[in-house]
Amino acid sequence: MKGVTILGATGSIGINTLDVMSRYPDRYRVVALTANSEVERLYRQCQTFRPRYAVMGNELAAEQLAARLRKELPGTEVLSGVSGLERVAALEEVDIVMAAIVGAAGLLPALAAARGGKRILLANKEALVVAGAIFMDEVRRNGAQLLPIDSEHNAIFQCMPDGFERGLAQSGVRRIMLTSSGGPFLHLPAAEFASITPDQACAHPNWTMGRKISVDSATMMNKGLEVIEACLLFNTTPGDVQVVIHPQSVIHSMVEYLDGSVLAQLGTPDMRIPIAHALAWPERIESGAGRLDLFEVARLDFEAPDLERFPCLAYAYEAASRNDTSAVIMNAANEEAVAAFLDNGILFPDIPRVIRGTLDELSPRRVTTIEEVLVEDRRARAAANGIIKEMKSDYCQ
Ligand code: NDP
Repeated sequence: MKGVTILGATGSIGINTLDVMSRYPDRYRVVALTANSEVERLYRQCQTFRPRYAVMGNELAAEQLAARLRKELPGTEVLSGVSGLERVAALEEVDIVMAAIVGAAGLLPALAAARGGKRILLANKEALVVAGAIFMDEVRRNGAQLLPIDSEHNAIFQCMPDGFERGLAQSGVRRIMLTSSGGPFLHLPAAEFASITPDQACAHPNWTMGRKISVDSATMMNKGLEVIEACLLFNTTPGDVQVVIHPQSVIHSMVEYLDGSVLAQLGTPDMRIPIAHALAWPERIESGAGRLDLFEVARLDFEAPDLERFPCLAYAYEAASRNDTSAVIMNAANEEAVAAFLDNGILFPDIPRVIRGTLDELSPRRVTTIEEVLVEDRRARAAANGIIKEMKSDYCQ
């Protein structure tokens, strides 16, 4: 019986994880569930899964949850804030931590799981992008296991040979082909980007996801973050990671070997597949996902990404090639810009403008500690918000 903590249980990945786990009550036990502000949703999940701990983002939300659980589930201890998240990520009785908080907010709890030597199922790509080599060092030093949940990285992991950590060339691999659906605006002329609404940006053609990653998919920043993630997870450089637009999202990514063989992982676009894979690895369990019907799919298309209409991908390639805080700055600016767009404060094409402006305004630094990373993250958010404020005041005139 494996004890599991789900960080971000009320989100899209959290809900899918509970769905897979609920099929195997004899194999997995929910130890802790966490949310930020969705008290009602976490309360209902607690009723069903009866965790030992529940964590809310702040004290007020935690008090509200505790008041509802007190009589019904006196055995569930309610905690709050980052310290609560870090605690449930590192508990002795926990074997597996699903890191599914959105954004850099998930960094410290994911790091706590790494320091606790857990099996980390990493959905929260921003944590890895921001902490980079520092995160990977903590994983190695503490004997933690990092299994990717992003469908693309999970696919690459499945296609890689044993010992890939040594590097691609040493493992007989020539390059990684990272597929991308291209998002909802793949062929929309750039002139029409300014009229895109948040709801249109969140309506992904193939996947149902949280709102932040949906917007990232629409700007292709998601693919950019994934290029950086691939470099870190598979010990390679951005030149060896090719982005391939594949609108059907059936091939989740590919690995090309030195002899010319290309291995791919295919499946329906359902996050329960990578979640089940990483939960049970190296065994296989049923995920609940529908089976792939190639006759229904009928054809698979591929094209090159358009970096002019989707400059976020170019910014990420640039950040991936630098050994400094460019990725921290880019990620922070993106999170602030996406939040402003979802709030109807700025336009869709303003998102890359905010990121470019922030990258141009700040000089990236070399950092070696998480504390320095967090300082840089805050500095970038302040700069990005300055740019957003100016944009908003221009729109008001
Ligand atoms: P959602 O927005 O659906 O869920 C986010 C979760 O994180 C919620 O439980 C939310 O709580 C919690 N949360 C948000 N902010 C904070 C915070 N400041 N502190 C603590 N908890 C917080 O996101 P997704 O599930 O879509 O994505 C989660 C991560 O997985 C992202 O990094 C994303 O890029 C990645 N991912 C997602 C995929 C998908 O299919 N959805 C695919 C591949 C990767 P509350 O509900 O209370 O707000």
